[in-house]
Amino acid sequence: MALLQISEPGMSTAPHQHRLAVGIDLGTTNSLVATVRSGDVETLPDNSGQHLLPSIVHYSKEGDVLVGVEAQQFQKTDPNNTLSSVKRLMGRGTEDVSRLSGQLPFEFSDTESAVPKVKIDAGEVTAIEASAEILKALKSRAIASLGDELTGAVITVPAYFDEAQRQATRDAAKLADIKVFRLLNEPTAAAVAYGLDQNVEGVIAVYDLGGGTFDISVLRLSKGVFEVLSTGGDSALGGDDFDHVIAEWLLEQSGNTKSTDAVLLKTALIESRRIKEALTDQESVEVEFAGWFSQFSRDEFESLVGGLIKKTLLATRRALRDAEVEKSDITDVVMVGGSTRMPIVRQKVGEFFETEPMVDLDPDRVVAIGAAIQADILAGNKPDGDMLLLDVIPLSLGLEMMGGLVEKVITRNTTIPITRAQEFTTYKDGQTAMSIHVLQGERETVEANRSLGKFTLRGIPPMTAGVARIKVTFQVDADGLLNVSAEEESTGTKSTIEIKPSYGLTDSEIEGMIRDSMDNAREDMLARSLREQQVEADHVMEALDSAIKKDGEALLTTDERQILLEARADLYSSRVGADADTIKASMKRMEKAAEFYVERRMNSSIKDAMTGHSVDEFSK
Ligand code: ADP
Ligand code: MG
Repeated sequence: MALLQISEPGMSTAPHQHRLAVGIDLGTTNSLVATVRSGDVETLPDNSGQHLLPSIVHYSKEGDVLVGVEAQQFQKTDPNNTLSSVKRLMGRGTEDVSRLSGQLPFEFSDTESAVPKVKIDAGEVTAIEASAEILKALKSRAIASLGDELTGAVITVPAYFDEAQRQATRDAAKLADIKVFRLLNEPTAAAVAYGLDQNVEGVIAVYDLGGGTFDISVLRLSKGVFEVLSTGGDSALGGDDFDHVIAEWLLEQSGNTKSTDAVLLKTALIESRRIKEALTDQESVEVEFAGWFSQFSRDEFESLVGGLIKKTLLATRRALRDAEVEKSDITDVVMVGGSTRMPIVRQKVGEFFETEPMVDLDPDRVVAIGAAIQADILAGNKPDGDMLLLDVIPLSLGLEMMGGLVEKVITRNTTIPITRAQEFTTYKDGQTAMSIHVLQGERETVEANRSLGKFTLRGIPPMTAGVARIKVTFQVDADGLLNVSAEEESTGTKSTIEIKPSYGLTDSEIEGMIRDSMDNAREDMLARSLREQQVEADHVMEALDSAIKKDGEALLTTDERQILLEARADLYSSRVGADADTIKASMKRMEKAAEFYVERRMNSSIKDAMTGHSVDEFSK
């Protein structure tokens, strides 16, 4: 069965011809490229045998660009022109950046722009451009070692990346002139690398502790199909924090606690990283810093970093809860990211899940390897490859309704790709346009959610309120990109937007939004029911006004009309500021008062309608 849903036009290929396709792990700290060659997956080294490409870009004053190890050496001597961790900036807008500026190691230019620009001596550069340089370096590495042109690539992204961040990644690939078969979630790639898709079923936890981020994902595997049940983590917790803990210790021990010397601090960090990595294989390590010498043991190290690991396990617990699974349901734990080399991390994760985590594959390479396997299939090298990779959306997507309420069209943690349509109708007689406001978040009201975009469907033929049928379709593709369209069904009038928000949310913001929605659940419910009643009341009044305008003269005496208008006035005044129950009661009274009128109208319309027509026509 061809379960792969992602097929690109014109990609069918002659069966005997192998097409060069690669998987790329575009990491915060390190990036990698891998490919399938004669049935084996391998990551590709540079010409000095290094597989990991540090995700660092150096721009000289003259505008020359260096990437990787060559750029890394400028970190100490020319930090302002040496960009690292640009992944953290991907898909972020100027607003996000001013909010996060303390946490980001960049100096931004003040130029007006939707995309933040980092100031360098040679001018300014965006995260997308810097990422494109990393991708270009990987691409030429692949071409050099395989001696062939690249058909395309699968690029991995964190599972929590939102539309803007995914789009930014695609844009970077475009700049690097790489065709993207698809973006793939990092945890899904890791599970594929371990061949877990060959199992019949299971619930897999992917624990990814990289350089600057921690991601935990829970996947369900069933009959070769992966479904991401939940994602969680901490975008500001990774191997770097372990370095910081050691660096503080170093500065303290060497009497430099108060130092503000940027070069000294940077040196402390670089030395700390060396110490940390050495302690993975050794029980103890020699330390030399600013003329101070000592020994540092693994035990000492482990006692300093216990809190950091505990934090990752708290997030893990939350992700299990979100996925609605128990620890004991987990069949496999996949370890990803260079920081899972640390023995203490493996041990604590093993204790937490009460099972041996999978560590056989190099944790740095596992994501690129999974991506390469997927790329090989997508390039058409394995026409029978039956693999469906499902991901989830992290936050619900919905629409603004009358009264500032949100109607969720796709709820969070729904697997993608997904298409979901909902029907709406017009609110006013003769309404010819409808505003579609797309929102993201868990709360009930518009203000409490994030606005993703707005557009207007025009050209609705004038009809009585409630008659038009407007179908709004939300489509989230395999990359997590959202497309919303609205169509008036009788005429086929259609309007569409692709949502590419100019800024993204951090995963802690996502978590915050989910938490908020729980904290405010009761308040939200009350607000919702009040708004609903208000909308309903407006609706009833509109309907009455429109009826009276149409046939009030003919069907009502002056007194009867007076009674109806009084009931309307009562409803009107209770609608403002009152609670939902009061409005409801007032609406009941008004409906009661209008009963006779409704009946009279019905009779008269049947009479009208039947004049000159056969009964059959109206019983359809
Ligand atoms: P990212 O996914 O963020 O690009 P990686 O998965 O490449 O990051 O992980 C980089 C992190 O792994 C760094 O913090 C690095 O110090 C850490 N790391 C690499 N090797 C080791 C090791 N042997 N022991 C401990 N930490 C390591
Ligand atoms: Mg990584």
